[in-house]
This record gives sequence, C-alpha cells and structure tokens, in this order.
Amino acid sequence: MPQNVSGREKEIVAKALRPFGTSIFTEMTSLANTHGAVNLSQGFPDFDGPEEVKAKAAEAIIAGPNQYAPSIGIPKLRHAVARKMKRFYGLEVDPDTEVTVTSGATEGLCATLLGILEPGDEVILIEPCFDTYAPISSLPGASIRYVSLGLPDFSLPRDELERAFNPRTRAIVINTPHNPTGKVFSLEELSFIASLCEKYDAFAIGDEVYEHMVYDGLKHVTLWNVPGLRDRSFVISSTAKTLSMTGWKQGWVIAAPDLSRAVRMSHQYIVFCGQPALQDAVAFGIDSPEQYYTQLLSDYTRRRDWLCDALVELGFRVFPPEGTYYVLVDITPLGFDDDLAFCRMLPEKAGVAAIPCSVFWDKRSRGRNLVRFCFCKKDETLEEAIRRLRKWLG
Ligand code: PMP
Repeated sequence: MPQNVSGREKEIVAKALRPFGTSIFTEMTSLANTHGAVNLSQGFPDFDGPEEVKAKAAEAIIAGPNQYAPSIGIPKLRHAVARKMKRFYGLEVDPDTEVTVTSGATEGLCATLLGILEPGDEVILIEPCFDTYAPISSLPGASIRYVSLGLPDFSLPRDELERAFNPRTRAIVINTPHNPTGKVFSLEELSFIASLCEKYDAFAIGDEVYEHMVYDGLKHVTLWNVPGLRDRSFVISSTAKTLSMTGWKQGWVIAAPDLSRAVRMSHQYIVFCGQPALQDAVAFGIDSPEQYYTQLLSDYTRRRDWLCDALVELGFRVFPPEGTYYVLVDITPLGFDDDLAFCRMLPEKAGVAAIPCSVFWDKRSRGRNLVRFCFCKKDETLEEAIRRLRKWLG
C-alpha cells in the first residue's frame, strides 16, 4: 500500500519502487500486534509444520556442514521436487537442469522476472494480484498491463486479456490457486492463456504456492501440464504453505533448461544459495506420505467451511474459495464501503485483523468492498476471532 514517502527518502528510494510503499501485510500484522488482535490478515499459520521436519532441520544443522550450498540447491531437494512433480502431476522433470532452489517463492519470482525482463518489455498481471509481482517487474524497467478478473465471479476477462497481449509482451504471471480470491484456474482457462503466449511468443510464470490447497474435488493444474506451456513457462512454488513453515523460505522454480539458465543467472547474484540444513529438511517433508497431504487438505476444508459459515452468520456476503487458505467477504451488507478504513479500524475496535483487498488492484479502483480473512489458524484462534467480531457487531 503506498504510504507517503517524503523529502530525502523520496530521492533515495529507486524510482521504480516509489509507487509501491510498505506492504499491506507488514502494516496489518503490525496493527494486529499493537492492538493484541487475532491476526487473520497475513497468511501464516499459528502452528508449525511437522515435528519430524523440524527435527531433520535441527539434525542437519548439528551434523553440518553449514557452508554455502550449491547455488541451484542441494541435489536432495532438487530430486525431491522432481519426484513430487511426477507423483502429483505425472510430469518428468530433470532435477539437474530444470529445478532451481530459491529463497521461497518470492525469490523465485524475483529471480525469474529479473532473469528475463528488459526495459520496455511488458508484463501482464491479473488483478487482484499478490503484491510482489508489480514492484519486481518494474525494477528492470518493464511496464505492467493489468487485466482484472470479473466481479463477483472472478471470471477471466478473455477479450480484455487478448487485447492486453501485444508484441512487447514478455510474460504473464498466473497465480493459481489465486490469492486473494481463492480461484482455481481451469485447464480450459489456462489453455486460452497458453494460446496467447504462443501467439505473442511470451512466457507464462505460474505462482503455484497454494497447489496443495484445492477443495471440493477440484484439481490444481500446473502450468507444465498445459499444452504449449511446457517450454515457455516457469512453475514457481514453495513449502511455506504446504509444510506450514512460512518462515523457512524454501521454494523453487521449475523451467526448461534454457529458461532455467536465465533464472540461475539472476539467482546467483541475488542470494547465491539458500540454507543447506533447511533444504535437507524440506526435501524430507516433500516426500511425506499421502496421509500428510490428505490430512492437510481435510483440516483446511473443515476450517474453510467453519469460517465461511460463521462469517455468513455475522452478515457478510461470503465468497467460499476453491483453493488457498483465504476467504473473501463483501462488507457492504454490514454498512461499510471502504475496505481500507474498515481494516485499519478492525484491530482496535474488534480485536481482529484482516486484509483490505483493494490493495491487490493497481488503482484501488475495484475491490473496495472486499476484505480477506485467512483460515490457516488453530480452531480456537478462528473461534476467538468470530467471538470478537460477533461481540463488536452486536
Ligand atoms: N505467492 C503468493 C500468491 C503468496 O500468497 C505468497 C505468500 N503469502 C507467496 C507467493 C510467498 O511465498 P514464499 O513465502 O514461499 O516466498
């Protein structure tokens, strides 16, 4: 969310970054802390991932070595990522030439965008969108074309998208399952995007961090399984959400060897490498038995259903998500019309924090009635949040 930057500070911050300001997640989590609010804003669990995975990390630190890992990631993790792509999506991925381990999906996005963009290129972003894509695309001098999902059904605006593509289009970022709407892009929608990428010789960048949180029997479609995208896409994911370890920042980019080389070129100069002990531990975690993944999904399905019902009961209009661990609500039925004002007031007045959704649009032109609550929290945390909201709303 842009916050006023003044005077000397204005001159110091790179021009490309000036329009963006401090992330909404920092702002809302800090408001939650100030007021002791139940934090349903930033998407991190209030529980840790599996004990065995933490134990692996501790063992690996003690056993060492704790020196620089290979820049592209330790072989064990690259192989685990390749195995996982085979196991869940039936894909053959070469762990040596097609997997690059990054510091979370965030650095994966950064390494990819900085690795392929030139000044004057265009990047297409589908609004509402996660806050990393625009600033990172702007840094190398690319310009952004926004295409907005339809409201209230989050449909893909095909004509608008087609009009946004042009010979300068270098890439489109597709986040599926989608934060904040919970939309899961269908194979048919992705194939439409693929046809435009082929027509304009553009890349598709898939942010797939919520790939294991897809509900109601729907299936996540990874960009690599979309006809035409195998050789022109970057599939980015991480273990932040899947292993409930958002603080570990362990992610990867999967791309054909020539595309991976571009990612590796920039990755080596951004961080060079990640932390070997954590890479060892998440490699173990990724190989978790089926039971782990089904339990994760059934726990989140239960929390989603519970939170959606509770929010409906409070009077919000609720958009149950197809994927992710977020629920969007419309605040107008309760008499509010400004999401930002609502979310800035909520921690103090109600003792709960949420994310205003208009900030996921470029110009806050849309989404001012939408607020996002996350449900990656213990049952008692969600219950407490609802208890507080009910009390505040009377
Ligand atoms: N992409 C999306 C859509 C996200 O919601 C998040 C985390 N909130 C990330 C990327 C960041 O992932 P990581 O922590 O692995 O960098």
